[in-house]
Amino acid sequence: MSGLTAPKGTFDTLPPDSTRFLGVRDTLTAPLRQAGYGYIETPAFEDTAVFARGVGESTDVVQKEMYTFDDRGGRSLTLRPELTAGLMRAFLEHRLYSGALPVKIWSVGSAFRYERPQAGRYRHFTQVDCEALGVDDPALDAEVVALGVQGFRDLGLTDFELLLTSLGDDTCRPQYRELLVAYLAKLDLDEETRRRAEINPLRVLDDKRPEVQAQLGDAPLMVDHLSDSTRAHYDAVRQHLTDLGVAWTEAPRLVRGLDYYTKTTFEFVHDGLGAQSAIGGGGGYAGLSAALGGPDLPGIGYAVGVDRTLLAVRAEGLDVGASAGVQAFVVPLGAEAKRLAVRLVGQLRQAGVAADTVYGDRGLKGAMKAADRSGASHIVVIGERDLAEGVGQLKDMSTGEQTAVPVADLFDALKRATVGP
Ligand code: AMP
Repeated sequence: MSGLTAPKGTFDTLPPDSTRFLGVRDTLTAPLRQAGYGYIETPAFEDTAVFARGVGESTDVVQKEMYTFDDRGGRSLTLRPELTAGLMRAFLEHRLYSGALPVKIWSVGSAFRYERPQAGRYRHFTQVDCEALGVDDPALDAEVVALGVQGFRDLGLTDFELLLTSLGDDTCRPQYRELLVAYLAKLDLDEETRRRAEINPLRVLDDKRPEVQAQLGDAPLMVDHLSDSTRAHYDAVRQHLTDLGVAWTEAPRLVRGLDYYTKTTFEFVHDGLGAQSAIGGGGGYAGLSAALGGPDLPGIGYAVGVDRTLLAVRAEGLDVGASAGVQAFVVPLGAEAKRLAVRLVGQLRQAGVAADTVYGDRGLKGAMKAADRSGASHIVVIGERDLAEGVGQLKDMSTGEQTAVPVADLFDALKRATVGP
């Protein structure tokens, strides 16, 4: 060991287990690709203002969790704590809104938050992000939610739940906010919570402490104070979800960690994860474009945590993306056979057969061990005596059957055996 370790709250994803990470990541994004969402990639860091304005100054993420630094040119940059704000910045910078709407995009990549590490909560993690921008349509909200659900279903997950609510918008949230502030003002709260109640009263509803929860029993809820337009929107979203075969649980106290959410708001939670039960979440964000200096355009999207979803997959005992290993493995003995093996493996790979051989001087025993570990269904051993006879020994690992195959026919024989004629 060098004495150097991965930074606190981060971890390495190593082979062979890493295929499971890739399996989860790719299964979560497949429904988005299939639905015609376009891939977008933006930098892992942005001007700090993108998040300060986009995520919201009053949020924990912005106040306590951002990796913010000045670069050598004196610019304040921040490692992205989430992907949406950066995608919105790109959407605005490149005026994607001047083309056909909605603009549907997805991305996947690293996010960074200075959080207290625990199981399922890391300082570096990976999010899959899905966004539909520029159109306000309950059917689009339902589409986005359903695509998220599809990813979990495709993984084989069953112990997850969709929590759903509406956070209203400009037509009703300000009035509701006043109601809630007045309600909270009468409660017995500590100084910090009282301050929070003034800046972001909705967050107090989410306070997990029993002494706070005990006082919130009859707190006014946003869903009971929606305007006619936001109520109609929410009703339509639920109708479309029913049509799409998506079940949900009403969660009138659902509050999300980021400030920009409006109207349809949701979270995906999983039973098997303990305290960090959220595997994804999202919602509408009518104010985000304007907050970043763009036109007044709506959007809806979600972020799913790949790492936490992988934990959920494990909790349900599912085996996603297990490494298939190689199909063919060549064991050469001696320099001449080695040259043949390298050429054969190269040809097989070009022909689309997953093939491998041994490197370094491993001896017969070591080489056979490597062949075994490779998971290959077919192994060729080319010994010195074989070579003198112009053959290699082809072994079918499923039957144990071994045949001597002329060297010139090995490629065809392996190809036939592994991918068919
Ligand atoms: P958020 O952007 O906070 O709504 O998070 C969206 C999803 O990202 C969550 O549901 C988690 O699956 C994942 N996530 C958020 N923060 C972390 C973290 N610190 N470590 C691992 N996953 C996270």
